[in-house]
Amino acid sequence: AKSLGRNAYSFFTKEMNIAMIRRFEIEEQMHGALERNEFEVYYQPQFDVKTNKAIGAEALLRWHSAALGNITPDEFIPIAEHTGLIVVIGQYVVKQALNFLNQWQTSEGEQYTIAVNLSPRQFRDKNLIPFIKESLDEANIGAGSLELEITEGVLMTGQSYIADALQALQKLGVKLSMDDFGTGYSSLSYLRQYDFDVLKIDRSFINGITQNKEDRDLVKASIAIAHNLGLDVVAEGVEITEQLTILKELNCDYVQGYYFSKPMPAAHFIDFSSHYKEI
Ligand code: C2E
Ligand code: CA
Ligand code: CA
Ligand code: CA
Repeated sequence: AKSLGRNAYSFFTKEMNIAMIRRFEIEEQMHGALERNEFEVYYQPQFDVKTNKAIGAEALLRWHSAALGNITPDEFIPIAEHTGLIVVIGQYVVKQALNFLNQWQTSEGEQYTIAVNLSPRQFRDKNLIPFIKESLDEANIGAGSLELEITEGVLMTGQSYIADALQALQKLGVKLSMDDFGTGYSSLSYLRQYDFDVLKIDRSFINGITQNKEDRDLVKASIAIAHNLGLDVVAEGVEITEQLTILKELNCDYVQGYYFSKPMPAAHFIDFSSHYKEI
């Protein structure tokens, strides 16, 4: 038993070493990745369930690393967050996204919203609010066209600067969206505490609504709560037509997912959008 234990131990450390080396390489490559232009923002459209028209898009970051290949945000965002690099990278995403919104609106002659993800570390940046304001002014975009998506992780810290920042953003007129709703412990209490405009139901619930009565009931209840509180609801991760049918029945406002489109580079999106004006 003893030697087996030791083997298990050395196996574990080997795995850990590989993970640590990978992490180190990513961190090393991330410095300078902006300058090398390795980041690219993709956009995934969101649609109005009632009118079938596109109403906006979510900005999703991609990293094409020359040294390491494509790295998913699930892998690099936590590292960017840890090192603090997310602050400058996040600023790049905001600039690109507002620029994209301008192009999209000009090419279609319509008004859309653009949703950008913000992670906890970005709220510690004293410059966050002035940066958002200046970026909106520069791009000549109304604050109401920008939606900031935040998860429970942001609110969980309980720090007063978070509440202050959220309030300041709201005063600016920016929309606040609660991302991944239902996956955390206290999503409900945060809904009461903060004034969100949009609730995004997590993909894991949408995934189950066709087979699973519990998931369907939870989605139904979430939509009812959101509507009672005056929030709009986005269902994320819609992949099949049956899910859309149920979401329509449940009075969901907006949908987003592979069923309609995967996230796309800006140029593809603008190209494509002339075809899918309606779904
Ligand atoms: P998220 O904000 O929950 O974004 C939704 C994720 O679901 C995206 O993954 C999107 O590509 C994926 N998705 C959309 N529709 C479907 C579908 O129908 N089926 C499936 N299976 N997946 C779908 P992605 O782009 O890999 O991003 C992962 C996470 O990384 C995001 O989750 C977000 O937390 C983070 N992230 C991405 N871009 C940024 C960014 O610019 N800033 C920050 N702070 N975080 C970001
Ligand atoms: Ca999101
Ligand atoms: Ca989400
Ligand atoms: Ca509100």
